[in-house]
Amino acid sequence: MIGSCTPKYTFSILSVVAILSTFLTLTKASNASSMLLFGELLIRKTTRAVPVLCQVTQRSYSSLKHDQSFDKSPARKVLKMGDPALYEKAAAVQDPSNPVVEQTVQELLKTLEATGTFMGLSAPQIGIPLRIAYFRIPKESPNPRYHLTTEFDPEGVPPTILVNPVIEPLSDEMALGYETCLSVPGMVGIVKRHQSIRYTWDTPEGKKSRVAHGFHARLVQHECGHLDGILYPQLIEDLRHFGYQDVLFARNLI
Ligand SMILES: [Zn+2]
Repeated sequence: MIGSCTPKYTFSILSVVAILSTFLTLTKASNASSMLLFGELLIRKTTRAVPVLCQVTQRSYSSLKHDQSFDKSPARKVLKMGDPALYEKAAAVQDPSNPVVEQTVQELLKTLEATGTFMGLSAPQIGIPLRIAYFRIPKESPNPRYHLTTEFDPEGVPPTILVNPVIEPLSDEMALGYETCLSVPGMVGIVKRHQSIRYTWDTPEGKKSRVAHGFHARLVQHECGHLDGILYPQLIEDLRHFGYQDVLFARNLI
C-alpha cells in the first residue's frame, strides 16, 4: 500500500516545491517593490493556478503606495549581455498610473545615477520585465564620441519615462552611430538606426508623441530595443565595428 501511494505524494510535494521555487526565484530581489512587481506578473499569469498566493500579493500591492522603504533601496544590479532575461520580450504595462511604474522609474534613476554618464536605461536591464524605459539627453555631451545632433535638440531632451513605447520610422533614411550600453560594459559598436522617427508612449493622462531625429532617435530606438529583448550588438552589421571602447574609439571609424 505504501508503495502504491508514494507516487501521488511525491508528485504533490514536487509540485509545491516547484511552485515555491519559482516564486522565490522570481522574487529573490530583496526589496518589497521587486516582490510586489513580480507578484503583479504572477497575478496576470497564474490567477487560476495559485489563487491564494494572488490574494496575498494583491493585498500587499495595494499598500505599496505608502511604502517609504523603497526610497532607501540601493541601486539595482544591471544585467549583462548573456543573461537570458535580456533577450525576453517585456510585458506591456496595463495601467500607466499603476504605482509600479513610478517605483520602477525610481529604481532606474537610482541605478543610472550610480553609473555615471549613461543617458538611458530600460526596466529589463535591471530585471524588471515590463515595457518601461527612462532617458534624458543633456545639452552637452558627456562623451565627445557621442554625436548629440544639437541641430535637432539644441536644449537636449528632458527626462522622459517611456511606458509601452511604439516607434514609427518617418523615412527610409538610416544613420550610423556609436552605441554603448550598461549591459555591455566597456564595449562600443557602430549601429545603423532610423534617422527620424515618431515615438508614442502611454502616460496616466493619455498617449504622448514626439518626433525625433539623429541621436535622440537613436537613443529611443536603443532603449525600445531592450523592451523587445534586443541588445545593440545584435544589430551590428560588421562585427569589426564592435569592440572595446579604448580600441574602437581610437580608430575614429565615424
Ligand atoms: Zn542599452
